[in-house]
Amino acid sequence: MRNSRVILILALVIAAGVGFFFLPLRQWFMHLENYVRSLGSVGPLVVILAYIICTVFFIPGSAVTIGSGTLFGLKTGFLVVVIGANLGALCSFLLARTFLREKVTRWADGNPKFRSLDQAIGKHGFKMVLLTRLSPVFPFVLLNYFLGLTAVRTRAYVLANLIGMLPATFLFVYIGAAARDAITGQMETSVSVYQQILKYVGLLATVAVVFMVTRIARKALREAERTQEASASPGTPRPDLNYKPASFDEMMLVDDAHDTKLIENCHPPRWVNPMPAQKYNLVVIGAGTAGLVSAAGAAGLGAKVALIERNLMGGDCLNVGCVPSKGVIRAARAAYEARHGKAFGVQFDGKPDINFSAAMERMRKLRAGISDHDSADRFRKLGVDVFIGNGRFVSPNAVEVDGKPLYFERAVIATGARAAELPVPGLAEAGYFTNETIFTLIELPRRMVVVGAGPIGCELAQSFQRFGSEVTMVTDGAEILPKEDRDAAAIVRAGIEKDGVRVIAHTAIQRVEKKDGAKSLHLKVGNTPTELLCDGILVSVGRTPNIEGMGLDDAGVQYTSQGVIVDHRLRTTNPRIYAAGDVCSKYKFTHAADAMARIVIANALFFARRKVTDLVIPWCTYTDPEIAHVGYYEKEAQAAGLDVGTITESLNHVDRAVLDGDAEGFAKVHYDKKSGRILGGTLVARHAGEMMSELTLAMATKQKMDVLSSTIHSYPTQAEVLRKIGDAYMRTKLTPTVKKVFEKWLAWRR
Ligand SMILES: Cc1cc2nc3c(=O)[nH]c(=O)nc-3n(C[C@H](O)[C@H](O)[C@H](O)COP(=O)(O)OP(=O)(O)OC[C@H]3O[C@@H](n4cnc5c(N)ncnc54)[C@H](O)[C@@H]3O)c2cc1C
Repeated sequence: MRNSRVILILALVIAAGVGFFFLPLRQWFMHLENYVRSLGSVGPLVVILAYIICTVFFIPGSAVTIGSGTLFGLKTGFLVVVIGANLGALCSFLLARTFLREKVTRWADGNPKFRSLDQAIGKHGFKMVLLTRLSPVFPFVLLNYFLGLTAVRTRAYVLANLIGMLPATFLFVYIGAAARDAITGQMETSVSVYQQILKYVGLLATVAVVFMVTRIARKALREAERTQEASASPGTPRPDLNYKPASFDEMMLVDDAHDTKLIENCHPPRWVNPMPAQKYNLVVIGAGTAGLVSAAGAAGLGAKVALIERNLMGGDCLNVGCVPSKGVIRAARAAYEARHGKAFGVQFDGKPDINFSAAMERMRKLRAGISDHDSADRFRKLGVDVFIGNGRFVSPNAVEVDGKPLYFERAVIATGARAAELPVPGLAEAGYFTNETIFTLIELPRRMVVVGAGPIGCELAQSFQRFGSEVTMVTDGAEILPKEDRDAAAIVRAGIEKDGVRVIAHTAIQRVEKKDGAKSLHLKVGNTPTELLCDGILVSVGRTPNIEGMGLDDAGVQYTSQGVIVDHRLRTTNPRIYAAGDVCSKYKFTHAADAMARIVIANALFFARRKVTDLVIPWCTYTDPEIAHVGYYEKEAQAAGLDVGTITESLNHVDRAVLDGDAEGFAKVHYDKKSGRILGGTLVARHAGEMMSELTLAMATKQKMDVLSSTIHSYPTQAEVLRKIGDAYMRTKLTPTVKKVFEKWLAWRR
């Protein structure tokens, strides 16, 4: 292909040379020029039309391009060709897209190479088209049709064409314009020698630039293809076909009045799915935070929306995540305070009566109340078509639910994640809890083992210990909360251990068995075998995305074991389909799912180009003390090449923390030494989650460290620790020289 193209161009040049000497080219050209001129302003339009027709009918455009330069000169010729070539390319593209794309994708469904290329072009549309345009290896007229068959978006195609064709167009028109000067004899008469030299130096420079750009483009294209092949390699995990999603009756107490109310709201037993509309603007699969926010937001803006939920509306957060866990944590804190009132002069006779069952009922009651907000009925009233059932893609533009297809213009995968499995022999037989089942407890296990020392494990281990269970937390790692700042995690560990939780690190669970009505865990702690007896096991060893049985392959949506693959704008490898929330993000938090859903609405429905990478996402683990973080950790910032400064202030010096008895904690803020910009920070404090919003706002609005100092904080509040950090930063600005200048100035004023 490449050689034949070079030969064709050489042949054209030789033919032009031969023609120049032996044919009456000059006269012919004059006639043609006179004819086109006689057409007046219609002349360029005729050439544009000719260009479009040539392109659509596979006639190579280089001759017309050079001809335009010859006929109209550099400026007008260039404009004519840019318009003609781009319109011609668009027509061919649209023809292929309209009449052939569906047939070809169906035919090539089993062809992994085409599929991989298709997905690469769909995902990196602009870049791929730009590179192929810059590279002369790909014949223009064929490429237009080929790209029409792929998943590239029309907008990206048009923009990349416009930019990518500029260098070659300029070069060919330039050649044409130079030939015109030669043919018409202007070379000798109207143009000075210096101008000619300049022109030919320019021509050489253009050739050199096109050559260089071409080489770079070709290399980048090869790399893009390689990356795509790597991510679509046979190593891509297949969904676990044996996975059976949990049902709401395993997560709720079906004979409890509060849980019955929740089920009425979130999985109404008598719900009748609506008749599907002919086509939806947006079909949302999964009614957790990401799905609910996408559906409500889109419907509120006038879109026709379908929302599909197979289990409980509200997803993990409402039913088996944030809401019940925070209810439990609050009750556990009340138990803790009842036991530890002595330091505050509050004492009870004897031991406080801690009623675990009542604490869990309080949680169920509050959760049922909150569930009104996420109910199927409320969403129906918002104008959303709510379908209860399993959603599954049956084609790139249709989802099936309840045996009926829902056709969509755009779709959102918001199917969340679930507790990761722990493959330990005997565990399933012995029985264990995950976050999906632990909130159904009405009796406190006397001894509990919590497997996993991440946020969920730490929060619940501390709470159950505070209720009175003897909790042991085991982790295969060296530390608890391994992702957090080490100093901060150490304080949380000390807090949890002070409550009585036993933390065993470097532990491998070999097997589990039932023993005398209890559960026995056979562990290896380092190299030492140990046995641990308990009455309940909570497994919280990470999250697995819900991607099974969704027909993602049928929809052309790629995924890995980490979830659905999305770009910065949350678009999957099928440009019609987006994803949001736990199913596609490493930030597995409700507020992150909410923020992503808002991006999806803007990008999917309104041509916005909002990026998830622009979000400033804080998080918090609600242990006592809480640990909250936003932005960079110190090491991350250093790895990113930033010159990082860090200021830490202990709560020991914050009056309110001392008075509250909450002085175990600190604030640590990282900043860019050059600009003073806040890069990130960690807070360890009883209300770190609340306090973190101030730092998050400062980062989201790109504030510098001095703002922490100049913001007035009410006294006494624990948030004053941030003002102290701001003051400490301002003191770093007071260098010995500045101080000396100040001293001189003040001495002079005395
Ligand atoms: C114990 C615990 C405590 C937590 N505490 C906090 C906290 O304090 N703060 C915080 O920010 N985050 C917390 N989280 C995380 C938070 O719950 C999640 O980040 C959030 O729920 C993610 O929302 P989502 O919409 O992505 O997914 P989900 O809430 O998981 O919703 C997904 C929904 O999709 C449905 N679904 C899946 N597949 C299909 C299908 N094929 N068809 C139809 N429906 C389908 C599921 O049934 C589910 O309802 C906690 C999580 C846990 C487990």
